[in-house]
Amino acid sequence: MYKLPELGYDYAALQPSISAEIMRLHHDTHHQGYVDKLNAALQGNDALQALDIEQLLGEVATIDDTKLATAIRNQGGGHYNHSLFWQMMSPDGGGEAKAELLDALNERYGSFQSFVDEFTSKSASVFGSGWCWLMPNMDIITTPNQDNPLMNGESAPILGLDVWEHAYYLDYHASRADYVKAWWDVVNWDFVNERWRGK
Ligand code: MN
Repeated sequence: MYKLPELGYDYAALQPSISAEIMRLHHDTHHQGYVDKLNAALQGNDALQALDIEQLLGEVATIDDTKLATAIRNQGGGHYNHSLFWQMMSPDGGGEAKAELLDALNERYGSFQSFVDEFTSKSASVFGSGWCWLMPNMDIITTPNQDNPLMNGESAPILGLDVWEHAYYLDYHASRADYVKAWWDVVNWDFVNERWRGK
């Protein structure tokens, strides 16, 4: 059984970037929904239930049962992506990446601001629902719906941004750009750096 992880901070902790109302709905309703539907889809399948979530998503391309594969992609992806997302933000976040990660971003993008601009631009380009990711090799990629790089046999991302409307509509209405701009103020660079060092 997969379980909904704790947020690790109060619902209101990311204000004003993200309201308590959004955090409560996003975590308690949306994320809980992914977990519940994933568990329902895997019921009776001991082999798949024994996998951790990264293994499960890594194997989704090999599952022939289309209905099951779709459930793992959507619900399992939703569970994994959101579990990361909560940790990739912090009330003490914002500012710039640090140490070697900052060096790597500077080397690839010329400056931290250029990286932010590129990531922001890519996140704006997602049509409909999806995610924008920073990969360990400093690539910035996007995936539709609740897909993520693991499903394509790629590495685990080190930073991700949820650009589904449910992530921002209550606070920013149709302005995804305002949400992304405010999100940079809560990015947990310590966590991103840890993930990258463990890459
Ligand atoms: Mn979401």
